[in-house]
Amino acid sequence: MHQALQYQVERFDYEGRKAYVRRIDSDYFTDAIDYTQVKELRAFESTPVGGGAKSAHGDVRLNRQIVGFKKVKFYTMENVGAGNLSMPEQEMHTTAFWLHFPEAFLARFPDLTPNEKQSGLVAVGALLRTVGALSVMCDPRDLGVSITEAIAGSMKTFEPNLYLYDNYPGGIGQSAALFKFTPRLLEGAVQLLRSCPCESGCPSCVGPVGEVGERGKETAARILGALVERTSDVVRV
Ligand SMILES: [Zn+2]
Repeated sequence: MHQALQYQVERFDYEGRKAYVRRIDSDYFTDAIDYTQVKELRAFESTPVGGGAKSAHGDVRLNRQIVGFKKVKFYTMENVGAGNLSMPEQEMHTTAFWLHFPEAFLARFPDLTPNEKQSGLVAVGALLRTVGALSVMCDPRDLGVSITEAIAGSMKTFEPNLYLYDNYPGGIGQSAALFKFTPRLLEGAVQLLRSCPCESGCPSCVGPVGEVGERGKETAARILGALVERTSDVVRV
């Protein structure tokens, strides 16, 4: 989009920093699909939250590669197609707020498959991003969401971090505030989830069902339930 007009990129010259475009009229727009990995470098502070999980903030390293794009329909936000792209990997150092889930935390949900747990965390991430952006009064795009990869496919040692990172090199000070607001973020996420009338997920709450799965909303509710269990007692910030 440029000045409210739509263009399609016909050729992209990465080295020359040029996009060659053609004016079109379309009922969808495209959004990049990125593969982003965040690695914790140093925690500045951390504090326990409910269920044995931890809340922290600190320095992180981020590696991002654009691996494709999806076509998103205007207004309904339906996913109407996708394609592959291969762009050079980019590295960035920034600051992040994160929740750490030890093995014992995820073991509280024995009826869920590893994939369902992962989707549940993605759903929690979507809620926290919305509530977090509101709490620090930033644009949701200023906050990136990422979850630690499962190690070599083995979920036995899967102790993921759910990151909300400052989407700018060096960080812009959002993560310290988010850390301070941990109890408020978790409670806000619970409220947002409960107040949304959708059945199993939508872009207004946990994200569309296509992204979080059929049980995404339910799983997010259970994870958040465990996180807020004793958070107000144990969090002293
Ligand atoms: Zn919803």
